[in-house]
Amino acid sequence: MEKTLVILKPSAIERALVGEVVKRIEQKGLIICGMKMMQLDEKILREHYSHLVDRPFFPMLVESMTVCPVIVMCLEGKDVVEVFRAMTGVTNGRKAAPGTLRGDFCMSGQQNIVHASDSVENAKIEIARFFKPEEIFNYTPGMLKFLYAEDEI
Ligand code: UDP
Ligand code: MG
Repeated sequence: MEKTLVILKPSAIERALVGEVVKRIEQKGLIICGMKMMQLDEKILREHYSHLVDRPFFPMLVESMTVCPVIVMCLEGKDVVEVFRAMTGVTNGRKAAPGTLRGDFCMSGQQNIVHASDSVENAKIEIARFFKPEEIFNYTPGMLKFLYAEDEI
């Protein structure tokens, strides 16, 4: 099944929102197949946010992402990249729809609590960036047959 990469940013860690985010992931029926705390640095952020390195706010973004450790997660599910982007909401928390993580928990376009891969192709690259192969666990939760119809999986 499809996988996506999620980062609980320092704004989630510092504001003690880890449980809220994980709760929504579990409630939705997404499978957690990798999860760890790590300290990011400028090197990995230059790769991860390579589309933004020339933007004036990039140094501030690096500062905000390195101020404390983050939690990276690998989630699995049918169409999970699209599903979790929808659960995340648009980049700016002030514009994100109520009901989304950013819409419900943040007021900022930078301190927006979570990162979510934006395509299946990028998800593969991002999972390999943040996890070693042995840190991803492919298992079949017992509840799987109650999450999906037989012909969906
Ligand atoms: N960002 C920012 N200012 C901007 C645009 C983005 O600080 O004007 C930060 C913000 O934290 C965002 C991250 O850079 O989540 C990555 O930007 P992207 O456009 O990829 O948005 P996302 O995919 O996170 O919604
Ligand atoms: Mg992005």
